Amino acid sequence: MKKRVTLTFPKRSVHQPITYRLAKDFNVAANIIRAQVAPNQIGKLVVELSGDIDQLEDAILWLQEHDIGVSQASREIMIDELSCVHCGLCTGVCPTGALSLHPDSFKLTFARSRCIVCEQCIPSCPVQAISTNL
Ligand code: SF4
Ligand code: SF4
Repeated sequence: MKKRVTLTFPKRSVHQPITYRLAKDFNVAANIIRAQVAPNQIGKLVVELSGDIDQLEDAILWLQEHDIGVSQASREIMIDELSCVHCGLCTGVCPTGALSLHPDSFKLTFARSRCIVCEQCIPSCPVQAISTNL
């Protein structure tokens, strides 16, 4: 089975080889959807875990025993396409290029896989078209 979870690492755990340990000790594959990890800061990973249900639960327990927060609901950016006026203001603050204006249509495009959910775009929108799901 598969589970999408958000892992939150305390500063001291940022350098742990998590995906290696999950694969080796629990036979659980961790596909990283999004990473926000900087030296000496709290790190966040959104990962899709896949493996046997019992081993998945053991892997999650192991993560929690190592002070890694495991949230099964991942925070996502939502764009209200009916409210968006395609002004492009949000694209100027997005650090990853997840938000851009299409070169032909000049419509806003959102590449979710590039979004690190930093939320800098939310206050930049003049019509409050950007929010989070949680
Ligand atoms: S949350 Fe951050 S990375 Fe994601 S679209 Fe907004 S500004 Fe870009
Ligand atoms: S700032 Fe708001 S209205 Fe402008 S393009 Fe971005 S989401 Fe659309």
